[in-house]
Amino acid sequence: MILTDLLENNVEQFGEYPFLFYRDKALSNRDLLDAANRLAAALKQRGIGAGDRVMVCMPNCPEVFIAYQAIMRAGAIVLPVMFVLHPREIGFIARASEASAVITSQLLLGNVVEAAQEMDQPPLLLVSGLEDHPAAFDKVPVEDLQSAMVAATPDKPGITPKPDDLAVILYTSGTTGQPKGVMLTHRNLYSNAAAAVTLAEEEEGEDEEPGTTLGVLPLAHIYGFTMANTLFMRGSSVVVLPKFEVRAVCLAIQEHRIKRFSAVPAMLYALITDPATADYDLSSLESVGSGSAPCPVTLIEAFRKRFNADIYEGYGLSEAAPAVSAHRRGETIKPGSVGRPLPGVEIRIAGPDGDPLATGDIGELLVRGENITPGYYRNEEATLAALKDGWLHTGDMAKLDEEGYLYIVDRKKDLILRGGFNIYPRDLEDLILQHPDVAEVAVIGVPSDRMGEEVVAVIVRKPDAVVDEAGILDFCQERLANYKTPRSVVFLEALPRNGVGKILKKSLREEVAEQVS
Ligand code: ATP
Repeated sequence: MILTDLLENNVEQFGEYPFLFYRDKALSNRDLLDAANRLAAALKQRGIGAGDRVMVCMPNCPEVFIAYQAIMRAGAIVLPVMFVLHPREIGFIARASEASAVITSQLLLGNVVEAAQEMDQPPLLLVSGLEDHPAAFDKVPVEDLQSAMVAATPDKPGITPKPDDLAVILYTSGTTGQPKGVMLTHRNLYSNAAAAVTLAEEEEGEDEEPGTTLGVLPLAHIYGFTMANTLFMRGSSVVVLPKFEVRAVCLAIQEHRIKRFSAVPAMLYALITDPATADYDLSSLESVGSGSAPCPVTLIEAFRKRFNADIYEGYGLSEAAPAVSAHRRGETIKPGSVGRPLPGVEIRIAGPDGDPLATGDIGELLVRGENITPGYYRNEEATLAALKDGWLHTGDMAKLDEEGYLYIVDRKKDLILRGGFNIYPRDLEDLILQHPDVAEVAVIGVPSDRMGEEVVAVIVRKPDAVVDEAGILDFCQERLANYKTPRSVVFLEALPRNGVGKILKKSLREEVAEQVS
């Protein structure tokens, strides 16, 4: 039940087999283990050990896989950080967690140093491909990652984490507030990866070759982190891409005859709208798993039409390491639903007093299982609010149907309370997306003296589309109850999104409130 065992087991079974392809490099499982042990030894030599926090801030590349395994092998805790974050945000995480070291790349060095130099005790920076030591930052110790690894031994470090030791602290992206450090133990992460693998094996049969998949989800996000663990468990190979780019994704699918991969809706949307996909043979593609944000029904349909491949939507959150529910391949796909709970994961739809509600009723989704976080790092107040009687209170409003399929209605914090009525933005978003001129939409509540909150639709038009506010409002009025119809429409060039393409509704509300006030 510890994540470091996964790599060892994988090496026993598939030692020389390629684990990952990256640009023109291929790394076998054995190469990865060797590199991870060297880096673990290098960390230990630098005094980093049990319970220390080590940040990894890089785009997807082999060093991220190596660093994650190495940090855990040294007994320390991984702090995965999206490389797209602002230095201020990186600094927040470094300070809140008191990171002892940061593993990063030359390209991000400026940002990371800016984040680190404010700290009383700046962390050691281990920099992949260090070109020059920036003298201006001499307060922050900097070393070349590769030289440190070459100088260290590849022997297995003598540390074995226990299942309930922390493996990771993951700072959520703060789409609804200040980021919180979700603590995850080896047991949490292992059990969730194992549940995902059980599902895959049930669907494909244990004997089917797991084949090669695409590693395009950011490994710094929980969804990407757990995907890496499932690769080890299944002995799959992975084509690692530093970032999502339509041509690179298509080329990898074509070259490696990829059948399945995991993605987020923003990536799938880019694939159906970019004409470049026509230049590639994507006929190997059978299905894509989608999670981390709602996948509009219109997108699921358009994807099937364009690629003859299904989208299997699932749902999860960092606090559940992450997967809670998923659609199973070969079973009915219910668009709009996020499938059924994973093996070993219990769910409940609860009313305000925590009691279970009847089928079809909307309430807060509670989750229980080995995958659930023990709490937030150094934040007892948030921990007590989220974990009650062994149940994680997800902050998501949801309902179940008679067949046990789960539907996420919306985030509790995104609900709009207008003149005493609850309005679920997602209902409206699904409707507005059916307008032929609308590419993207986010529906938000903005403060109103008269109604408490007013409904505003923020829209990105399709290229060359001309629809105006009146056109959108007419479209809504014809199809919606009056109290739900947006009062105004704001057109933007793009919606603010986080590193996995999730719409940042909190910043959108702030931005739009000024425009419509
Ligand atoms: P924060 O919690 O700080 O706002 P975050 O949103 O990035 O940050 P995550 O753990 O990455 O935190 O996201 C989990 C949330 O994403 C869930 O609580 C849910 O609201 C949303 N989500 C994930 N998958 C789906 C899905 N398939 N449909 C609808 N919502 C989803």
